[in-house]
Amino acid sequence: MEKAIHRYTENDPEFIKVNKGIKQPEIVDRESVKRFLAKRKKLLSVDEYVEGILNGNITVLSRAVTLVESSKSEHQDIAQEIITRCLPHSGNSIRVGITGIPGVGKSTFIEALGKHITSNGGRLAVLAIDPSSERSKGSILGDKTRMEELVGDKNAYIRPSPSAGSLGGVARKTRETIVLCEAAGFNHIFIETVGVGQSETTVHSMTDFFLLIMLAGAGDELQGIKRGIMEMADFIAINKADGSNIEKAQTARVQYKNALHLFPQKESKWDPDVLTCSAINKTGIPEIWTNIEEYRQITTQNGYFSLKRNEQSIYWMYETIDNQLKRIFYNHPLIKKKINEMEHKVLNNQKSSFLAAGELLKLYNERS
Ligand code: GDP
Repeated sequence: MEKAIHRYTENDPEFIKVNKGIKQPEIVDRESVKRFLAKRKKLLSVDEYVEGILNGNITVLSRAVTLVESSKSEHQDIAQEIITRCLPHSGNSIRVGITGIPGVGKSTFIEALGKHITSNGGRLAVLAIDPSSERSKGSILGDKTRMEELVGDKNAYIRPSPSAGSLGGVARKTRETIVLCEAAGFNHIFIETVGVGQSETTVHSMTDFFLLIMLAGAGDELQGIKRGIMEMADFIAINKADGSNIEKAQTARVQYKNALHLFPQKESKWDPDVLTCSAINKTGIPEIWTNIEEYRQITTQNGYFSLKRNEQSIYWMYETIDNQLKRIFYNHPLIKKKINEMEHKVLNNQKSSFLAAGELLKLYNERS
């Protein structure tokens, strides 16, 4: 016999009630997202940037630094205006260049010294010069897990190296970023670089104090870092002086100290010291800071501090002229149109490099 099918009705206790749905509001309000994105993309006015920076607004500062780093002409134009307006508010800082080979402990050291500074009421901006970062995807400061304590410190601002272009280009951007950071009230500027190449000289040309971090090696204390870099140093920190390494670090300290005596006296009349530290254990860090402050005091008194800054300003004036001229030249439509063809001709031996350059310059000079 066929089983009767039970039809549930609304009165059945097992009847599942399905309410007539009401239209759910969209979780995302598309209009406000559109407005938000439009606002985000919109550049602020120069006044808004300057006001934000002078008020110490980090978001505005970051956006201005992004303009400084941009290679777009329209961004550069605004950036230059912002920099000019911030210049009178800059300069009130100590600028410290920090270098050392990869693995020596630079970021650990910067974090330890940085925390020491901010816990004593200082405001610190950490910038970097790493022209290789385009290839290595931002080896310096690029990794967010580095300097975790400083990243979360409201008195610290950390900006990875601008990744585009030549050392000269990266350096100019960093130099301009210093101006903005100082105008935003950062009175301590650290500039990190890897101790393996040309960038030390560049960092030296934009800092007041040059600090070299080294490690104690076995018998080869003076190896691994170029003589020229040691000569530039205002201070050498022997890092990782902890555990079984303390004694070796002490020995290295004496050796470096002796080695530094072989260099001629510095124009600053400053006698660079060598101290050991452990960035991880935060030992030796306050002593290093005291040394930097002493340097500032002595060179301010003997006039070297401002003399060096003035020399650097002039140097950067010429550097900037060089850079701007190049930018204007390469961005000119006539040049843009012709340059690939010239490159091609040079590569095919149809024109010498000099002739091609001469023709392009002539073309530019004779533009209407
Ligand atoms: P950087 O490449 O020069 O920035 O070096 P890091 O700061 O990333 O440090 C490289 C490695 O050395 C990391 O594993 C750190 O934990 C370690 N390190 C840094 N400072 C010290 C220190 O003072 N003592 C010891 N034992 N290790 C350290």
